[in-house]
Amino acid sequence: MSMRIVPHWINGAQVEGAGERRLPVWDPATGERQAEVVAATGAEVRAAVQAALDAQPGWRAASLSRRAEVMFRFRDLVDANRKEIATLLSSEHGKTVADAGGEIARGLENAEFAAGAPHLLKGGYSEQAATGVDVYSIMQPLGVVAGITPFNFPAMVPMWMFCNALVAGNTFVLKPSEKDPSVSLLLADLLRRAGLPDGAFNVVQGDKSAVDALLADPDVRAVSFVGSTPVAKAIYEAGTRAGKRVQALGGAKNHMVVLPDADVDAAADAAVSAGFGSAGERCMAVSVVVAVGTAGDALVPAIASRLAKIRVGPASDPDSEMGPLITREHRDRVAGYLESPGGTVVVDGREAPEASGPGFFLGASLVDNVEKQSPYYTDEIFGPVLSVVRVDTYDEALELVNDNPYGNGTAIFTRDGGAARRFQYDAVCGMVGVNVPIPVPVAYYSFGGWKASLFGDLHMYGPEGLQFYTRTKVVTSRWPDPSTSEVDLGFPKVR
Ligand code: NAD
Repeated sequence: MSMRIVPHWINGAQVEGAGERRLPVWDPATGERQAEVVAATGAEVRAAVQAALDAQPGWRAASLSRRAEVMFRFRDLVDANRKEIATLLSSEHGKTVADAGGEIARGLENAEFAAGAPHLLKGGYSEQAATGVDVYSIMQPLGVVAGITPFNFPAMVPMWMFCNALVAGNTFVLKPSEKDPSVSLLLADLLRRAGLPDGAFNVVQGDKSAVDALLADPDVRAVSFVGSTPVAKAIYEAGTRAGKRVQALGGAKNHMVVLPDADVDAAADAAVSAGFGSAGERCMAVSVVVAVGTAGDALVPAIASRLAKIRVGPASDPDSEMGPLITREHRDRVAGYLESPGGTVVVDGREAPEASGPGFFLGASLVDNVEKQSPYYTDEIFGPVLSVVRVDTYDEALELVNDNPYGNGTAIFTRDGGAARRFQYDAVCGMVGVNVPIPVPVAYYSFGGWKASLFGDLHMYGPEGLQFYTRTKVVTSRWPDPSTSEVDLGFPKVR
């Protein structure tokens, strides 16, 4: 049987790649190569940008209601095809179908938000800024914008970007992760069925070479990136050097601070859900529990007892709670951490029966008494390994959160409202949860970390997302009243 090739999507249709370089798409549950991506050539990337460039004036001219209507229809189509999208997503990513459904639901919120663009794209208006002079601002699209997305949310992260970009009148080129590229084509087809004109949304498959071609193309005005920190930083630097607007979201090391007064069972449930959902391959996963005072004594056994019950298995089995990791290489890298010094392995995921099969499985691991200098703490492991750091005081816990180079999300678990209020005030992090372990903001707020978790000025989606995809024009207008007209050589004054 010949290998399935994942095509590009250019100008409203699938395009088979003509490139030479082929990248594997694995089935992470079986370890088999299930498809191949043909890395886009420079000419293919250019064709996608050209299609977007050609489509942009017409799409921009479509009325706000028309653009909103496309988002409404897209929302309904994704909703109606949820199962199909989730199943395809799981087959390439490995996360459970229920988890994929959750991802799609969170992505859809962005289409719902974008459908409100007629209200959100209102500018300001000042009547009589000077005598007979009115001043108003207009939010106009940038033109062609590009999105580069990570493997871990192949549906949601693209939706974070393109819903707002499109509704604001831009056209879009997506470069999805080469590891799970197929969902992007389903989304492209649903956008087409929703009434988006051909060329307004394009997908080019590939890796760094496709990204470099997008960054080098002068017709790409802005780049949204989500992925690891070193790549985020490089893309931010290359993109801004080329004069583009860039928002580049990077990696994370999210701390969950547990105070001694917290409810142990609720905190353990939250730590396990947030640490091991999607096998820890979430940028908002909790990877460090910071147990304050005596909190760790009851919490560590409570977490350990829950890990024993997690059902590890393929996404195709509805009973599975935790699927495999994305590639064998990544699985081996994550498993390798369990040999590190500076922590006590309480539960070793390598001992899970699935971990010895051909799929890229690893069971859940718990490491207690993790030291600040150990790789458990310093690295973004991005897998099912939860570290526990024990500290004596709230101040020490806060110092860990604030000294960490990443600043994506953090959470505090406590019954003390005053302590939670103080933490919310003090934490040097873009997103904070109070008794909520994964504080991903709803679509009408914006998502983004601080420090090495985001390069750029504007967070993604929500109001800041719309701001990112528009530029403001300010018009100063006088319609002279013939009865007051006169020559005045002075500089225009407002008072
Ligand atoms: P990655 O950085 O390897 O890849 C992300 C994208 O960049 C992919 O499309 C990939 O093809 C491309 N890419 C990879 N190397 C490149 C290079 N050298 N030059 C140009 N492009 C390159 O990330 P990943 O492994 O797909 O995703 C996991 C990472 O993403 C984790 O670090 C995770 O924390 C992060 N992430 C962050 C957020 C957030 O919101 N901050 C959300 C999801 C994932």
